[in-house]
Amino acid sequence: MRLDEVLQQRLAERERQHLLRQRQQIAGPQQPTVINQNQVMVNFCSNDYLGLANHPAVISAFQQAAKSHGVGSGASHLVCGHHKLHDQLEEALAEFTGYERVLLFSSGYMANLGVINALSTKGDYILQDKLNHASLIDGGLISQARFQRYAHADVIQLAKCLQSCSPQQQRLVVTDGVFSMDGDIAPLPALVNLVESHNAWLMVDDAHGFGVLGEHGKGIIQHFGLSPEQVPILVGTLGKAFGTYGAFVAGSKTLIEALVQFARTYIYTTALPPALAAASLTSLKLLQEESWRRTHLQQLITFFRHEVSQQGWQLLPSCTPIQLVLVGDADQSVQVSHELQKRGFWVTAIRPPTVPKGTARLRITFSAQHTMDQVEQLVDALANIKGLQEPL
Ligand code: PMP
Repeated sequence: MRLDEVLQQRLAERERQHLLRQRQQIAGPQQPTVINQNQVMVNFCSNDYLGLANHPAVISAFQQAAKSHGVGSGASHLVCGHHKLHDQLEEALAEFTGYERVLLFSSGYMANLGVINALSTKGDYILQDKLNHASLIDGGLISQARFQRYAHADVIQLAKCLQSCSPQQQRLVVTDGVFSMDGDIAPLPALVNLVESHNAWLMVDDAHGFGVLGEHGKGIIQHFGLSPEQVPILVGTLGKAFGTYGAFVAGSKTLIEALVQFARTYIYTTALPPALAAASLTSLKLLQEESWRRTHLQQLITFFRHEVSQQGWQLLPSCTPIQLVLVGDADQSVQVSHELQKRGFWVTAIRPPTVPKGTARLRITFSAQHTMDQVEQLVDALANIKGLQEPL
């Protein structure tokens, strides 16, 4: 069969299942009010949790660095793409996180794929939470190791998995810090204890917690009052709370040196543009100096949860900027999302296969840039739609 014929069949099947995804084009910067297909909307689906993506100081750092150092990094880190701005950002992140060393990756997806594959060899075990991000799952799938998934946040099942692994082989336990489609936080203290008692290794992807959780925004580790030594492999991304782009891995000097040598997604890809490193350095400074961003964000979340749960909507348990309104039926969740869109709110419906069948949901993400007024208006719109729900 011709390529296009095969693909048309597959696409038609997706359409038949009502699962075709569509891109929506925005004009202008990421901010609470965006222009989406010519309609002005309040954006409740961005990961720009601290509202730094369009911050004048971050933009200016980016512009100045691009002026001085150009746009493209020109090559991979091990050829001639490694710039002094990369080193500066790595050092600043190491100091902030309290780890010995940090290594920048060009994206979180690449960091996860690269770390998992650099650390595991044939015969080893990779044990992952079932709801981990696709990049972690893909890392496990393409590895040579034995890849197993344990039920979400189920420390008891993980303990059983660890018991059944041969202790002669390395065992790498991998979890998201904050689960991206559920908004909940991994039971990290219990995971740390379990992994330590089995002499296994622990890797945490704190993409959604870093910058947001903890008193100083140091993420899930600070949230639980743990120390960096208890989480030997930490991944953070820069495209979310930092408002920029890229990712990093924090760990011991030895871990980072091993990644430089063995992580294929580090070695064989073009380095992050240096100007992005400069922008991220400014974000890191703002994130530390402007703690009001985290305080305000938390106020918005608390208010939203209180109001919406009183309207009869079912909220998944989450204290993070990722809030989920459970709808259940996939089509109905899309309808509610359209109703919100008609009222000027951009909220995405998350459907299978991203989440299990029957658990379609609205994913609402908050940013420190949202005003309380905007959140009140969203709450009113949800109340209004709840009233209409029967005819929907
Ligand atoms: N980890 C998690 C938990 C994520 O949600 C994402 C992206 N949404 C990534 C990793 C990938 O990060 P990036 O977008 O930088 O590739």
